[in-house]
Amino acid sequence: MGPRIHLVNPSDVSFGIAVITPRWLYVLAAASGTAWGDPVLVDETLEPFDFSTIAPGDVVGIGIHTGNARRGYEIGRLARAKGAWVAFGGIHATLFPAEPHEYGGAHTVVRGDGDIVWPTVVRDCLKGAPCPQYEGGRVRGDDFLPARWDLLPEGRYMWASVQTVRGCPKHCSFCSVWRTDGQEPRQRAIDIVVQEIVELRRRGFRFIALADDNFYPVTLDDLAKARRRVDGSSLRQLEQLRQERFDLMNALAQLPDDMVFFTQITMEAAEDTAFLEAMNRARIRGALIGVEAVTPAGLKDVYKGFNLVGEELVDRLRLFSRHGVNVLGSFIFGLPSDRAETFRTTVALAERANLAFAQFVLLTPFPGTLDFESWATSTTDHQTVEGIPVTKYWLIPEIRRPKLLMPHPTLEAEEIRVRAQGAWDQFYSWRSVWRRSRLVTSLKSRVAFVLISKLYRQMYANTGIATDSARVDRSASIARIMAVACRRLFMARPMPDLEVPVSPTVERVA
Ligand code: SF4
Repeated sequence: MGPRIHLVNPSDVSFGIAVITPRWLYVLAAASGTAWGDPVLVDETLEPFDFSTIAPGDVVGIGIHTGNARRGYEIGRLARAKGAWVAFGGIHATLFPAEPHEYGGAHTVVRGDGDIVWPTVVRDCLKGAPCPQYEGGRVRGDDFLPARWDLLPEGRYMWASVQTVRGCPKHCSFCSVWRTDGQEPRQRAIDIVVQEIVELRRRGFRFIALADDNFYPVTLDDLAKARRRVDGSSLRQLEQLRQERFDLMNALAQLPDDMVFFTQITMEAAEDTAFLEAMNRARIRGALIGVEAVTPAGLKDVYKGFNLVGEELVDRLRLFSRHGVNVLGSFIFGLPSDRAETFRTTVALAERANLAFAQFVLLTPFPGTLDFESWATSTTDHQTVEGIPVTKYWLIPEIRRPKLLMPHPTLEAEEIRVRAQGAWDQFYSWRSVWRRSRLVTSLKSRVAFVLISKLYRQMYANTGIATDSARVDRSASIARIMAVACRRLFMARPMPDLEVPVSPTVERVA
């Protein structure tokens, strides 16, 4: 047997069952081709990598973001010790291409999108002469590869993930998407997206996450501004982008009616009734919305002045649920303008706004963001944990990593952590979750809603904010048990004969 390709999604915690398929693994599997046999896909959110499967001369591709970089480096070192060629990619490797060489045993690093460049990397490794670095760049929407869903393991994921657009025109200070994926939206051809979704439904997936940076890349405000310009080219371009979104949603509406979609979107979509109605017809039943803060000062802190506050914010968020789109609101704690009362006010607003789910994350300076740059330049290298500068906090073992890195003008870090944990406790108490479960109708759906809420909380709050390793382990064990029950609720009977619906675009031309 010749050398094999292993693609690894690193994780310190394995749950046995995961919520969403790590799309990049299956896309890179497609990019790998079949000349070297099917790649071996390893998702450590399911189970840890079995290093005995590596033979000398194999290629091990490891995709990392800041949160799993440390585990990725550990895997890289062990794989290299077994004689494999080690290649790193992903957002963190793109931002710090020297780091995998220094800490992860890398032979090579791929920056940017791997869709096109990956086969060259593999070929060079197998010839024994990889370049230290490859530039994948930003591939065009038409060049995004469909994923190899035929390699999915049976019974391990609740939702599949399909990407329809990469890039976001906004510029939030805590987010790196607009700087790494670019501000120009790159949309995929609708027919290809629909074909992928049909393939997933054939396999029994009826819940699909549209894993886009921002599902609403053209706002009414963008169009109004473009209309005021003398040169009409940008208006035409924006109108075309917008039309493609509607065409996509019309195509989704033609899929089997037990299908449900979930995406990420900015709050501005609520002002666009036509868009909300199209989402409803397309059965986009959930959206993650970055609310971030509930005060004007908080929004200013994160350059998100396009969001609303107070009762206007409540009304706008309710518009989504009125159109059948349940909202997972994302809030950030630890902003300079936060005060002790902010935590309670935020949870109260999340409840008043009829949010189905909420996440309360601690302000973290992620590399590639404006926040990171200003924090790193103002933090001296003398601040260390176990000899590692806090400005490279991802290299510090998770359990000893400071939970809050950016100093707060009035609150202690521990107080912010405890109050943030309190916000999760309050929002996900049995009573609150049962009350919110009225968002769905049947008793079975309400029970499912409760289970999923509790699973979400176990997976994200307790493992992310807790400082006590026993609590983290306990949460992971509970999540493992709940995940088995939840997965059954999400899957449907496979439809192997499902046809791809006729594209609305083709219909128009005909
Ligand atoms: S947080 Fe969302 S809206 Fe802001 S830049 Fe990132 S992807 Fe765009």
